[in-house]
Amino acid sequence: MAPKEFPELGETQLNELKEALSQWSLANGLIMYPPNFEQYNANVAPITLYPTPLPKSSFKNAQDVQKIFNELYINLVTKQKSWLLPLLQDLSTFDKDFTGKLFETYQKAIEQSPNKKLVQPLSLGLFRSDYMIHQDTNEIKQIEFNTVSVSFGGLSSKVGQLHNYLNKVGYYDNNYSYKYYEDEEIPISKSSTELAQGLAEANTHYGVNNSVILFIVQPGERNCFDQRHIEYALINDHNIKSYRLTLEEVSSQTTIKDNKLYLKSTMDEVSVVYYRSGYAPTDYEVNPEKTWEARLLLEKSSAIKSPSILTQLAGAKKVQQILTNADAIKQALPDITESDLSLLLSTFVSIYPLDDTEQGKLAKKLAFEQPENFVLKPQREGGGNNIYKENIPSFLKSIDEKEWGAYILMEIINPPTYRNKIIRNNEIYHEDIISELGIFGTILFNEETGDIISNKNAGFLLRSKFSTSNEGGVAAGFGCVDNIYLY
Ligand code: ADP
Ligand code: MG
Ligand code: MG
Repeated sequence: MAPKEFPELGETQLNELKEALSQWSLANGLIMYPPNFEQYNANVAPITLYPTPLPKSSFKNAQDVQKIFNELYINLVTKQKSWLLPLLQDLSTFDKDFTGKLFETYQKAIEQSPNKKLVQPLSLGLFRSDYMIHQDTNEIKQIEFNTVSVSFGGLSSKVGQLHNYLNKVGYYDNNYSYKYYEDEEIPISKSSTELAQGLAEANTHYGVNNSVILFIVQPGERNCFDQRHIEYALINDHNIKSYRLTLEEVSSQTTIKDNKLYLKSTMDEVSVVYYRSGYAPTDYEVNPEKTWEARLLLEKSSAIKSPSILTQLAGAKKVQQILTNADAIKQALPDITESDLSLLLSTFVSIYPLDDTEQGKLAKKLAFEQPENFVLKPQREGGGNNIYKENIPSFLKSIDEKEWGAYILMEIINPPTYRNKIIRNNEIYHEDIISELGIFGTILFNEETGDIISNKNAGFLLRSKFSTSNEGGVAAGFGCVDNIYLY
């Protein structure tokens, strides 16, 4: 069945829709700070006017596979250290300054801990698996699996509420008289409250009354409202206080006693350290010594980390490349059923290493002979790091071939395009867009024993961007937050 068209509104209705949308967003925190902001002035976040079509079956598969992915990635950290650690050691030699530094900090933390064991074995994953829909088959194809600092859980819930409000009041209809979509066609992501639920569970297992959650944030974060919605859910639903510090502030604002982490100002004990920073080299650039020292101090403390350094590193693009192989998956998930395995495998496109293996040799040929089918990815997070299509050959030539092993070569996914409308900075754009579906998951586990205490789905996110742009960074100005219209 084909999805129904987007609403077609007359000029007056479109203007009224725009006003209703802007005021709802400002009233309810579907907002973001502009560049160089002042505290009192935020803007409506870049969003779509209407929800974008997504096949029901694709959505179901993405949700069904999430808990398997959660378990797969944490098993690498717990049961497959003998495999993961040498791999990370290897990656560190290519990327000394970042991957290397993270890995070194992990090793130092172990070295400096009593009995060479981290004081806190519990670990919390707040993950997001991202997909595009293959346009011919409707199969979900994984873009990447994120294990650190996943964003937009807060704003995703809000944009779902917004589209539902607009639909219910009748703004999607020229006569304001009927709902253009059925309620169940435009679901609302529970990511705000379910990510908070994940943090709250870790707080419970930490087991200290009135302990608090520490958000580690970037200085001048423009997307702080997205994070705030999770904080509000923590206090409203769970009566858990949270604090926000930058990596630079950790040494002056916290103190350690018997490995326990306290906030100096209140002497509140920290149960969970939740990273919304620390995933990119720039997070350590201004004051490397102080910020890496902060990361080490937090890693060694008895607070539960989300994520631990090892869990963060397990999300490396290189790991994702290796996991496209069925044998690698079976090794990490020995009890996986045939149907789960085929569901996992169906989400992968080809990803190649650029090394001296047979696969690597083939990839080196493909990169030069048909670059238009590929994207080249370094071991980086947070957008803006990939090399696309025609740019691949000249980029590879510009660096030493010895460095190529630090990259993976991934087949380009071509999703269907839709002519939705995007609003950003008060301007409406009517262009072809493509969308990326993210599924959130939370998993609380013991890094030492491999025991899983809780493994859950935690809502979804749809981000869209102009089909002409390669990357979809919302804050960076290429993309927007969207919602799903299930058909
Ligand atoms: P990051 O960790 O920096 O977010 P991603 O792997 O998500 O890195 O790549 C960034 C963006 O590049 C994605 O959001 C998507 O828009 C685009 N992209 C990445 N891989 C592919 C692919 N295989 N096919 C099409 N687009 C892709
Ligand atoms: Mg990522
Ligand atoms: Mg990404």
